[in-house]
Amino acid sequence: MRGTSSFLIVANRLPVDRVGDKEWRRSPGGLVTAIAPVMQRRDGAWLGWTGAAGEELKPFDHEGMHLIPVPLSGLEVELYYEGFSNATLWPLYHDVVAKPTYSRVLWDAYRAVNDRFARAAADAAAPGAVVWVQDYQLQLVPAMLRKLRPDLKIGFFLHIPFPPAELFNQLPWRNEILEGLLGADLVGFQRPGGASNFVRLSRRLLGLQNHRNEILMEGRTVRAEAFPISVDFGELDQLVREPRVLRRAKEIRAELGDPEHVLLGVDRLDYTKGIGQRLKAFGELLDDGAIKPGEAVFVQVATPTRERVDEYRRLRNDIELRVGRINGEHGVIGRQPISYLHQSYSKEELAALYCAADVMVVTPLRDGMNLVAKEYVACRHDLRGALVLSEFAGAADELRQAFLVNPYDIDGLKRAMLAAMRATPHELARRMRSLRRRVATHNVDKWASDFLTALESGEGVAEEQLTA
Ligand code: UDP
Repeated sequence: MRGTSSFLIVANRLPVDRVGDKEWRRSPGGLVTAIAPVMQRRDGAWLGWTGAAGEELKPFDHEGMHLIPVPLSGLEVELYYEGFSNATLWPLYHDVVAKPTYSRVLWDAYRAVNDRFARAAADAAAPGAVVWVQDYQLQLVPAMLRKLRPDLKIGFFLHIPFPPAELFNQLPWRNEILEGLLGADLVGFQRPGGASNFVRLSRRLLGLQNHRNEILMEGRTVRAEAFPISVDFGELDQLVREPRVLRRAKEIRAELGDPEHVLLGVDRLDYTKGIGQRLKAFGELLDDGAIKPGEAVFVQVATPTRERVDEYRRLRNDIELRVGRINGEHGVIGRQPISYLHQSYSKEELAALYCAADVMVVTPLRDGMNLVAKEYVACRHDLRGALVLSEFAGAADELRQAFLVNPYDIDGLKRAMLAAMRATPHELARRMRSLRRRVATHNVDKWASDFLTALESGEGVAEEQLTA
């Protein structure tokens, strides 16, 4: 059976969220924005899970996109999604910041779900179609799909870091994961280091030969390369010029009591984000008297995420305890130094927050890219505002003019936060101008088109050569 889609995105989630019972809304996020126009131009389709366990839906169209749901049972959500994806791969690929769970039951579910995605993609793709598989939940799909459909051009992009051998080797199914990825013609990573880790591991564990970033696999060439993802610079740059957003930014500062400095963190409440470290540093600045009471407010948006995974429950308790302590010790009636928000905000409200913040504090212990850092830069055409950025975020490769920090070094974090608060307008403008130049010229459209150009221009192997 052959489908009709000549361009197919395969991702864990469909790019829509449900509103009410019947309606869908396009999910926020750069990936959809970047890819939607390509999908419309090329008669494309997007294959993924709806986000609801046990739901079986027929393919449907939404805002010019053809969507093909792949069902997951409640048990599969637990074992494949919360389990192998988010309790095994996520911590392993993020420097083992938390201890990964290695369980054969989780692995079996991961393989079964990947197989379902591969079969659905094989059914949907037109002859010779381009299929772009996304992220760590689906690393076995490229090889499974190639087996079913050797005529396809298959790309894979990993949105999270790809670890070095010292960590990756812990994985009992390390060879299977590598072989899964090697089913692609092009494997994309956020950083060059991820691509070279992958090439090195393919050599060492599978004994494959390579020429620079090209790996020879069963007579085919698999290219490994970095394509740093980005944000829709133009959209954000325009949004923050809207009077209502500027008004809202002023209002936010007023609601915080018009302090001299507003510091901001925006993250999913994830243990990779270094939220505890940055709050500790801020708390110590208050303890030391380096920041006077009322002089600065730290707004921490901590979006709820993966709340059924144990490690995330523990993290929430730790962070909320820390916030409570700092506010208890340094607050006065009606005013607290940390404004903690365990909520999710719209793009527009976030844009207003970015405009309201003098210092954006982004301190992940490990992060594939970190889009929040790039969004902040895209929102500051006023050339004010300072970015404190962890050197362990992919974004640090490009945003060299940020105040770069090692988030494990609490004294270093304190120094960087103070330096950012005390920098002159001239210095801030100089740094921000350079940061903006980078993000403006390397936006998410460029990311998608660079990847697809590389995929389609690569030396493919013709179908007739493969099917004897
Ligand atoms: N985000 C959002 N609402 C929130 C918090 C975050 O829409 O309340 C968005 C944010 O604008 C960014 C994304 O979520 O685009 C987070 O991406 P990032 O790369 O920083 O981290 P991730 O969550 O993918 O690890």
